[in-house]
Amino acid sequence: MDCTKTLRLRIKDKHARVLSAMAREVNQVWNYCNETSHRAIRERSRWLSGYDLQKLTNGFSKCDGVQIGSPTVQQVCEDYAKARKQFKRTKLRWRVSNPKSSKYSLGWVPFKARALQYKAGQIAFAGQKFSLWDSYGLGDYELRAGSFSEDSRGRWYLNVVVKVQAKASSGTASIGIDLGLKEAAVASDGQRIVGRFYRQLEGDLGLAQRAGKKQRTKAIHAKIANQRKDMLHKFSTALVKDNAAIFVGDVASTKLVKTKMAKSTLDAGWASLKTMLEYKSQQAGIVFEVVNESYTTQTCSCCGSIPASSPKGRAGLRIREWVCGDCGAVHDRDVNAAKNILAAGHRRLAEGISGV
Ligand SMILES: [Zn+2]
Repeated sequence: MDCTKTLRLRIKDKHARVLSAMAREVNQVWNYCNETSHRAIRERSRWLSGYDLQKLTNGFSKCDGVQIGSPTVQQVCEDYAKARKQFKRTKLRWRVSNPKSSKYSLGWVPFKARALQYKAGQIAFAGQKFSLWDSYGLGDYELRAGSFSEDSRGRWYLNVVVKVQAKASSGTASIGIDLGLKEAAVASDGQRIVGRFYRQLEGDLGLAQRAGKKQRTKAIHAKIANQRKDMLHKFSTALVKDNAAIFVGDVASTKLVKTKMAKSTLDAGWASLKTMLEYKSQQAGIVFEVVNESYTTQTCSCCGSIPASSPKGRAGLRIREWVCGDCGAVHDRDVNAAKNILAAGHRRLAEGISGV
């Protein structure tokens, strides 16, 4: 079922200048989308879709000196609309092209599938050829959508989704994360953040609250917050270090509705874990995507069916382990969900293939 993965390859430094110039064009498109979209919302209460923005930017790629082709311009429009929706904002951050600015946006150039060709050790894209350190043997893969990205040291990388023939190796370069209820997060490789690690402190908190000790209560709250933050930092740093692509499920309003657990606590944890993963991924120049997590819990990550035996609804929340009635695979509920999120992420990155 999951037959794609994301590879990350370092591009030779001599191409940095061309790529930075392309990234400036991407930023122009992004900022134009940001301004136009914001004005449409403010003045006409109209939310422009990715398609609307594509129509408005049609022709940009034909302007004098512009190198990025129309598929990349379209991809930026799509990504802009997606991000605006995801972050529920009427306006996003500007992309800053000046490397001397403290707000500089690390270079990013997305591409659709087929906009990229591999030939004799080089990548051809938008009329340019790029040499890279090909540690994977790219010639053996079918290349799909992806991006070029810059890291904080000015190095450029190719992040590309590929179709894989064989089973994914244990050293797979991407990971899916399910933001569940019991634990804050479970990864598709089985790593997890242990839930309710501050149970001891919670006991203390209850005591202090009942005794009306305000200072003490405040101090314990702060301690819990610090411990949680520290844990999330360690978890996110390790994930970014080990992977070329990270996919997170878009939590879970449905999950929250079904529970009486401290919503604010979990909410805060999820939001900050996502934020950390996002900016750390950006700094490291790896792919970070939030994907729709519908049915990720019920679907068998081995055979892709939704068997009668899978966890569903409120009762399903209590099921930790289950066996797929269709293929016999034994699943940990959250790891299975994380695997499905990983597969959904790959599919979404690969969708570029039908986009243009
Ligand atoms: Zn199955």
